[in-house]
Amino acid sequence: LAAWGRQRSGATAAAALSQLGATQNISPVPRPDSGSPGLDSASDSILRVDGIIKNFGGLRALDDVSLSLQSGEILGLIGPNGSGKTTLINVISGTYPPSSGQVSFLQNDITNWPAHKIAGQGIGRTFQSIQLFANLTVFENVLAGAVIKGSGLNFGSSERWARHLIAQFGLTQYADRLAGTLPYGPQRALEIARAVAIQCRLLLLDEPAAGMIRQESNQLINVLRTLQNDLGIGLLVVDHDLQMMMQLCDRVVVLNKGQLIASGAPQEVQKDPRVVEAYIGRKRKAATNSVE
Ligand code: ADP
Ligand code: MG
Repeated sequence: LAAWGRQRSGATAAAALSQLGATQNISPVPRPDSGSPGLDSASDSILRVDGIIKNFGGLRALDDVSLSLQSGEILGLIGPNGSGKTTLINVISGTYPPSSGQVSFLQNDITNWPAHKIAGQGIGRTFQSIQLFANLTVFENVLAGAVIKGSGLNFGSSERWARHLIAQFGLTQYADRLAGTLPYGPQRALEIARAVAIQCRLLLLDEPAAGMIRQESNQLINVLRTLQNDLGIGLLVVDHDLQMMMQLCDRVVVLNKGQLIASGAPQEVQKDPRVVEAYIGRKRKAATNSVE
């Protein structure tokens, strides 16, 4: 809890903002009409990940991972700690190049593109550990994303677009406060608002509800659904809060030891024996180790 009010350093926020490149004008896109969960239709997918392998020295963090995400879809990515979830987000967003495999976004092969160029194509992201400009206000943080885009989406100016997002994310009461002084939940919301401010088509969220109380994660679900419905933004969401993921996601994929072991509707995936084993098997092992 002590970490909740911690000031975030400008240096790490700068790293976060280096992800925000100059983007093309992006219009809202309609949701897919036949978004049958469990279907992995590559035809109207905006993101395709094919056969990704990522090695860190002798460790294979991702082992032949393939998936696709449709326009306006909310895809959940779950799996035990260390299963490769953050690594997959880092590979898609260009933080790390994959050892092999291909990432395509909106008909472009973006494999090995630098992070700022991938952001410029319309992939926004947030970080497992929040990265904000702690010494700038909430408004200035969102504006930092918005000015990269200039005016768009009928909001006339970057300032109006930033204010709209601040309201949409329930941050109006904090607008003039320094970001580093905010409680934890609003800091998380602010990081997402800043990522959305560049008018992304796809948003990668690494544990957005970590440390949130239930009321805050419910609010987050509403905000993310609004992004999906009003702006047609596709979302790839990693989180440990399974209750939230079951409510939020159209489809869920499961990573275990770098491999995708299941994909489907949230309720189906939850019951999948391989998924249960991946989670429970690990707990059993941990319990055994703690006895030894
Ligand atoms: P998750 O997000 O699912 O908890 P990660 O993607 O962070 O898992 O990590 C997957 C595996 O890759 C872990 O064994 C982790 O230690 C390793 N790993 C992640 N990033 C690096 C890195 N930069 N260097 C070396 N090993 C890494
Ligand atoms: Mg992680």
